[in-house]
Amino acid sequence: MTKSYTSLAEIKSGLQSGEITVEKLVKSYLTKITQNAHLNAFNEVFDSEALACAKVVDARVQQGTAGKLAGMVIAIKDNICYKGHKAAASSKILDGFTSVYSSTVVERMLAEDAIIIGRCNCDEFGMGAANENSHFGAVKNYADETKVSGGSSGGSAVAVQADMCLAALGTDTGGSVRQPASFCGLVGLKPTYGRISRHGIIAYASSFDQVGTITKSVEDAALLLEVMAGPDSYDSTLAQISVPKFSQNIKPVTPKKIAYLQEALSSPGVDAEVKNNLASYIDKLRADGHTVKPIAFEYLDYLVPTYYVLAMAEASSNLSRYDGVHSGYRSPAAVDLVSTYKRSRSEGFGKEVKRRIMLGTFVLSAGYYDAYYAKAQKVRRLIREKTDAILQECDFILLPTAPEPAFAIGRGEKDPVTTYLSDIFTVQASLTGAPAISLPTGNNNKGLPLGLQLLGKHFEEQALIDFSKYFVGL
Ligand code: GLN
Repeated sequence: MTKSYTSLAEIKSGLQSGEITVEKLVKSYLTKITQNAHLNAFNEVFDSEALACAKVVDARVQQGTAGKLAGMVIAIKDNICYKGHKAAASSKILDGFTSVYSSTVVERMLAEDAIIIGRCNCDEFGMGAANENSHFGAVKNYADETKVSGGSSGGSAVAVQADMCLAALGTDTGGSVRQPASFCGLVGLKPTYGRISRHGIIAYASSFDQVGTITKSVEDAALLLEVMAGPDSYDSTLAQISVPKFSQNIKPVTPKKIAYLQEALSSPGVDAEVKNNLASYIDKLRADGHTVKPIAFEYLDYLVPTYYVLAMAEASSNLSRYDGVHSGYRSPAAVDLVSTYKRSRSEGFGKEVKRRIMLGTFVLSAGYYDAYYAKAQKVRRLIREKTDAILQECDFILLPTAPEPAFAIGRGEKDPVTTYLSDIFTVQASLTGAPAISLPTGNNNKGLPLGLQLLGKHFEEQALIDFSKYFVGL
């Protein structure tokens, strides 16, 4: 077994010195995947293929022709298409579906010699915050197996946490990269909406969905972002701007202005240790010469409802394509067109997904459109304007990633509204499209990881990365 590597730079120096080979590294990760199979992080492991790719990359390393990601062994969330491989978004309705093309993110990573080791468990279609809404069952947190992994990219987070790969891709619609990263003690980066192509990503809510990274180091997040980001003719929502070499440009920080949410320290809904954690970082930042100021965000109570009205509306539209005809699951009891639709969808979708399709259809229906969907769009605009105004005054907004650390497996199922409310701190970046990163900030008194989040200005990921690198050293 090789040692536990915490960054690609460390692996690269191991490759250089001959301490390891990519093949040995992949073997070691595969052993850990087998040992930790009970955590349920993977829906499928691409074992023989990963080993074959490792030999190719080792040869390229020898010849000096290897790409930027040589030695990067990465897992992908089960909603990211990889040609010739299954992708199910952890849903029964995609049973039997094989991707006919690769997502842009996969193509760009492979072009730089990354090795994809498997596809990870997640909440069905990304809908959830605990990875309990998966057709393949919950994912266990490696720090405490009675606790959830977080979600929806829970398998991706645990795969990195338990050292089953170096990094993982997730998708973040309302917090699904940042929240599981914080529950697992990792770095979770959601870039600006429009930075990374959504081509080949199984859609949940298209005006929010972004691919993000779960890594052990800020540097690896920067490197993966730099490889994946940038214009792509398959995604018209991408910004037509150049992508900095984030990983090579990391600079020391100068004194910054940081706003934090007053309520995060005063609200009874926030766990006491989360509050203390935030307070201690505010103190550290002030001691280091940064200006850290409380702000009141007047739309705080509207963040979660606005997000859920819009995300469910978009989901109901996106998920209408699963008809039991074109791809995936078809009910064996279907006898004609109508029963094919009805039975395949009733049997193929899980409970939470059905709830969201129904609510989404409701808010879009003729009599309620203005009262819910149109109003939520207007509130989204207000939230964006207010957030932009705050970011004109300061460099970052500092928030907890989640109101509490990883909770007990089984709780979310009983009470979906509490689970929705737990997204309070992550959906602001999703509604506004701003980049945000969750950073590990130690453990609580039970050994469960805690995380804090920094929200930055649109397309200024470099500043966020620079500050994050400094922040994890505080
Ligand atoms: N928990 C949120 C939801 O269920 C966010 C999920 C996500 O980002 N994919 O919608």
